[in-house]
Amino acid sequence: MLNLQAHRLTPVTWQCSPHADERPDSHDISLLVVHGISLPEGEFGGPYINDLFLGCLDCNAHPNFAILEGLRVSAHCLIRRDGEIIQYVDFNRRAWHAGVSSWQGRERCNDYSIGIELEGTDSTPYTKQQYQALAEVTRVLQQHYPAITNERIVGHEDIAPGRKTDPGPAFDWQQYRALITKTART
Ligand SMILES: [Zn+2]
Repeated sequence: MLNLQAHRLTPVTWQCSPHADERPDSHDISLLVVHGISLPEGEFGGPYINDLFLGCLDCNAHPNFAILEGLRVSAHCLIRRDGEIIQYVDFNRRAWHAGVSSWQGRERCNDYSIGIELEGTDSTPYTKQQYQALAEVTRVLQQHYPAITNERIVGHEDIAPGRKTDPGPAFDWQQYRALITKTART
């Protein structure tokens, strides 16, 4: 059973990302952003997403990593293909996941959002374990941060259209939203 104490999930693996800072208003946590990521693109299970978020990615490890040189990004959590959850940034702090972004006319979504990365690509179906874990995380987050209503759960592609495409058409919003409703009731 997932729990949340002092802005951290338990029992969940904790890895401290240096790519984070204070929110302008630590009480304003009112948006959940779902992402998809894989490194290298389309390959799952390697150490590279973790390394990227921890600031220790070897950009020579793969030809496609050259563009990641110097990139300082993070997310609050990563959900791996098997449903394992890793947290990198406390929820009351600002993770650097959204980039240039805007939701309902308000810019800089990192200021007031929580970012959850699913290991995957825009075109590979996400796993059942990932939907389950994401729904569990969502339930706990909504309990602690009630401003994150169901209408304020979006994809990266929704807050950075034209620039970002994740979590992509492979992400089944209908299945996820059905799970949230079910999880909230039980
Ligand atoms: Zn993203």
